[in-house]
Amino acid sequence: MRTAFKYRLFVNANQERELGVMLESHRRLYNAYLDMRQLAYEQYGVTITYCDCSGWFKHQRISNPYFARLNFSSAQATMRRLDKAFRAFFRRLKAKEKPGYPRFKSRDRFESIEFPSYGDGIRLNGNRLRVQHVGTIRVKLHRPVEGTVKTATIKREGDKWFLVLSCDLGEVAIPKSNNPPVGIDLGLKSFLTASDGEREPNPRLLKTQLPELRRKGRAVSRKKRFGLNRRKAVGRLRSVYVRVRNLRREHHHQVACRLVRRYGLIAVERLNIRGMVKNRRLARAISDAGWSGFIGILKHKAEKAGASVVEVDPRGTSQECSRCGQEVHKDLSVRWHDCPHCGLSLNRDHNAALNILARGLARTGPAECNVKVALHFPGSRRVYATE
Ligand SMILES: [Zn+2]
Repeated sequence: MRTAFKYRLFVNANQERELGVMLESHRRLYNAYLDMRQLAYEQYGVTITYCDCSGWFKHQRISNPYFARLNFSSAQATMRRLDKAFRAFFRRLKAKEKPGYPRFKSRDRFESIEFPSYGDGIRLNGNRLRVQHVGTIRVKLHRPVEGTVKTATIKREGDKWFLVLSCDLGEVAIPKSNNPPVGIDLGLKSFLTASDGEREPNPRLLKTQLPELRRKGRAVSRKKRFGLNRRKAVGRLRSVYVRVRNLRREHHHQVACRLVRRYGLIAVERLNIRGMVKNRRLARAISDAGWSGFIGILKHKAEKAGASVVEVDPRGTSQECSRCGQEVHKDLSVRWHDCPHCGLSLNRDHNAALNILARGLARTGPAECNVKVALHFPGSRRVYATE
């Protein structure tokens, strides 16, 4: 199993400058490769592959002192990164999705350097990180590194630097969880409603920071364009976003942790965020909830706890009655499910969560879920025996 460990780096002024130069050199390499590849294709119709570019880079190192100072394998990782972006672009093109052509990276969009083989140009010794051409950086080792380190990445977030170690934990035998199953409905009123009726409030972290964001945003627009003060103001604005992101992730981790401790099978709806964000009025609130990030964390935590996550088709989960299966049409503003057919009356999201659970159990079948409970809702015609 692969797991990432992230540590804060405490850099001094020299190291910060050197890391900044290194990041900038990597960014220029990335953009140079993109430029070459684009030009070669437009002019001659040929594709400059990663191998071609790697050869070119080797040659460039003779004349370009900035490229000469880069660790070779980390430079290769940067070139592979663009190669990967192109492959993803062609895959999306083929699948008739929105293609998303690889873009030139501005200074604010290039924030990490990968060292693909740990020990080559980077090494951790106790709480000291040795980086080629930068020096020895102090690391806050808030938890021990587990397994064998495979790759290391240096990352900038706002004005802070981090080290991310991707470690191989080997074969880990995880006993299958014997906890009961649950269905969860993700929403905006409540962040999450479980099929047992429990709800998790939506903290709306971005919304609480909006006044602050507006204030800092105004400060940016008052500054002269391209000026140093503007850059500083942008930095202050970004740090608010970084804070919101960190708080959101922390919230996701806590909620996911609680779920995998209590349940063995977690049924969630398959998300179509892109479709949902088209709803302009709710776009910000939906992005603020960060559901897909949450599901990613939930899957990861479930894997470690021996629980499983199933994604089900969400179509009609909020309209269908969870007891009799009849469709009960409700607008988004109607928060209560009142079934005229069987008289079931409960919270709209609770009803949806029950439907999601039913679909999840139907998908996995009783064998997957080794729990001996019969899910039978009072007066229900449907019985979900999971034996
Ligand atoms: Zn009903």
